[in-house]
Amino acid sequence: MKMLRQRKGRTGSVITLVDTKEELTLHTHGDKLLWDYDELPEWQKDNDKILKGYVRETNSFKRCLHSLFYLNNESVNIYTHLVPAVFYISMSVYLANVFLIPVYPSTSRIDYVIINVFFLGAFACLLCSSCFHCLKQHSESQCNMWSKVDYLGIICLISCSTVPMIYYGYFDHLSEFTIYTGITLALAFGCSVFVLTDKFNTTEYRPIRASFFTLFGFSGIIPLGAGFLKFGVSGVLQRISLPFIGLEAFFYITGAIIYGFRFPETMAPGKFDFCGSSHQIFHIMVVLGSICHLVAMMQSYQLIHSNFLR
Ligand SMILES: [Zn+2]
Repeated sequence: MKMLRQRKGRTGSVITLVDTKEELTLHTHGDKLLWDYDELPEWQKDNDKILKGYVRETNSFKRCLHSLFYLNNESVNIYTHLVPAVFYISMSVYLANVFLIPVYPSTSRIDYVIINVFFLGAFACLLCSSCFHCLKQHSESQCNMWSKVDYLGIICLISCSTVPMIYYGYFDHLSEFTIYTGITLALAFGCSVFVLTDKFNTTEYRPIRASFFTLFGFSGIIPLGAGFLKFGVSGVLQRISLPFIGLEAFFYITGAIIYGFRFPETMAPGKFDFCGSSHQIFHIMVVLGSICHLVAMMQSYQLIHSNFLR
């Protein structure tokens, strides 16, 4: 597409040729980087309590990536997940294997696989989320696509968190481990199908979305409840680290509730445009929940190897 464009320079009006969609967008935007809610195209309007600091539809991946280098109302969302993503992949590739996993005589290769499943799940979730928040400004179709990637990342984190806990809870009961892992993966598959349908990805479905993911997150209660019946409270306490699992649940549930109710920006629209909005708090809660899970998993590993496999 070729178009004529007028731009005022120091020497007066200059006519230049624009032949790409990207240049057209640059022209439309000028040098303005941040936009108000009212200036957004309809598809970008999601939270009317966040009034300023938007990156307007860019139609350019380059401009989306450029937004990483100036403060906008997605910056906190991006970096609260990008920084921990780097931490988790570093742990997975090298650090955890060398520094975090104490070696017992009974430590086997399976322990390393199981623990790294969690690191990779956490990394995938946080990276997908960072990509979504950075690239959703591109266009409506890209926003929809990356939104699905974001949800698939959450499913990945929940699955990769639950399976290691089932493994340590039922390390000596292979059939139970297989059944509960099968249930988790089946639920994950169902959730993924749900996510990939367009109907689910609208503002209207926000509360259902939050509830659905909370329910999937809670599916770990099935093997936990069965564990209480099978091993008793003391048996469960010898196998998994319940206090940290409880704390993890607290962070995830609180984060989902805050996200669902859009607190605190609903109370004071425009006051949390750049920092402190519900989505940012939700992100931090997810990271704190994942750290609790990491601590719980490492304690379970140690409990099993010191109580049963000595
Ligand atoms: Zn997010």
